Amino acid sequence: MTDYIELQKQYEFDVFPKRDIVLTRGKGARLWDDKDNEYIDCASGIGVASIGHANEFLAKAIFEQAGKLITCPGTFYNDTKALLLEKLIGVTPVNLTKAYLSNSGTEAMEAAIKFSRYTTKKTNFISAMKGFHGRTMGALSATYKSEYRDGFEPLVPGFSFVPYNNIEKLAEAVDEKTAGIILEPIQGEGGINIGDFEYFKAVRKICDENNVILIIDEIQTGFCRTGKMFACDHFEIQPDILTVAKAIGGGFPIGATICSDKIELPIGKHGTTFGGNPLACAAANASIQFMLDNDLAKQAYEKGEYFKEKIMSQELNRVRSFRNLGLMIGIELKEKVQPILKELMDKGIIALPAGTTVLRILPPLVITYEELDFAIQKIIDVLK
Ligand SMILES: *Cc1c(COP(=O)(O)O)cnc(C)c1O
Repeated sequence: MTDYIELQKQYEFDVFPKRDIVLTRGKGARLWDDKDNEYIDCASGIGVASIGHANEFLAKAIFEQAGKLITCPGTFYNDTKALLLEKLIGVTPVNLTKAYLSNSGTEAMEAAIKFSRYTTKKTNFISAMKGFHGRTMGALSATYKSEYRDGFEPLVPGFSFVPYNNIEKLAEAVDEKTAGIILEPIQGEGGINIGDFEYFKAVRKICDENNVILIIDEIQTGFCRTGKMFACDHFEIQPDILTVAKAIGGGFPIGATICSDKIELPIGKHGTTFGGNPLACAAANASIQFMLDNDLAKQAYEKGEYFKEKIMSQELNRVRSFRNLGLMIGIELKEKVQPILKELMDKGIIALPAGTTVLRILPPLVITYEELDFAIQKIIDVLK
């Protein structure tokens, strides 16, 4: 049998710390490796596979579109793209009216940064400590962790950071140069830190009073993960720009920068070769339709509550605290998370870290209660 690990090690310019299994296929919330070991997926490929692996509705949509038209430059109109745009604007917060389509989260952020500078004719951005917005130079400039930034400076000038959920510090940081404020409604990579309702209300007010663009990054929280279509719906946030990616295409790469009427950019100032291609649009169309048809928001909420109840009813010695909104779950540990992830994987559970001490659980929203029970039991066994 081919040793895929050795093969990949030999030829990949690797940027990720690796776990030593070769994933070859999936179904719903289950994954299998090349030795046919089965795992319950509590990662969804980092919050991507919300509608489940090998989703037939999605596979059919991709197959049909692939046989029809895969690529179509932005200089032409396209039927599939038009239908996706209508659907996207239909599910996002009501004040958002137009979407720019790209291929990833970080590209959605780059567009948000450029659109904000152009619209306001100002240069600076404020984002939150522990925030994560992507790895390209603009998005990285808004990303807090020095581990991601060190070695790549100078980054884009004009970016600064304030503590999350602290309105005084944010108000102090805003000045006449501030073009935009960039925030996640729940910090994902930063440790599943949940925003305050009052905080976001105050942030909106600060933006309105200072002609500042409010950019809400829902790349991880979006599309039913938190128990509503968007986390904005929990906090009643009306962003000027909403960025999405991860779950939107059910695993097919696509990102979007969704704007209110306030945002301006003349034709020809920004663009992309692949962004919003018909194949990606067909995937996103099918994924969103599947979410709506199966009320995955409600499912995420109920399964999140179920998970919380089961975990909270236990005396777990290795746990400091528990945080969740729907199936966006963080279990803060009293110790480093990496060895725990290994223990879980040996028991057939694939989970994620968020920072050094938070165990992050992001299962596909279609996970069955049987699978959920299995995962919860293993997590309890490990954390006792
Ligand atoms: C993953 C993520 C990004 C970056 O998305 P990519 O598709 O990896 O570029 C940005 N913001 C948040 C909140 C994310 O979770």
